[in-house]
Amino acid sequence: MVLQSQRQLDEILSGELLKEYKTVHAMIKIYCAKHHGVLHGLCEECAELSEYAKTKLDRCVFGQNKPTCNRCPVHCYRPEPKETMRAVMRFSGPRMLFKHPLLAIRHLRHEKKEVPEVPKKNVSNRHLRKQVKSEKQ
Ligand SMILES: [Zn+2]
Repeated sequence: MVLQSQRQLDEILSGELLKEYKTVHAMIKIYCAKHHGVLHGLCEECAELSEYAKTKLDRCVFGQNKPTCNRCPVHCYRPEPKETMRAVMRFSGPRMLFKHPLLAIRHLRHEKKEVPEVPKKNVSNRHLRKQVKSEKQ
């Protein structure tokens, strides 16, 4: 795997996936500040978790149609980051309404949507990015 700079990775996601990532990132920040005492940015462990979440969003088989993670039928996280993420969500979920009301409300509305069927064709953000690239060549 080629490691990319923070900036490049942020440009990878767009639309719903980017909003989802902003939500997750904001939740990790709330968690990190309270549990690890980091007020600006993230500690190493939380930064890693945030990167992991970003990679998973990029590769999500639903692409832009992604349901919220807690309702997703596909289990794409490894057990360990999954547990950490659960703890983050439990802690930061209720606090999001005060800190980031717009993101929180979007997420809550999203949760009510029906979970789509798993697409037969690969429509992940990553797959589509690669396709656009190869068509350009
Ligand atoms: Zn942390």
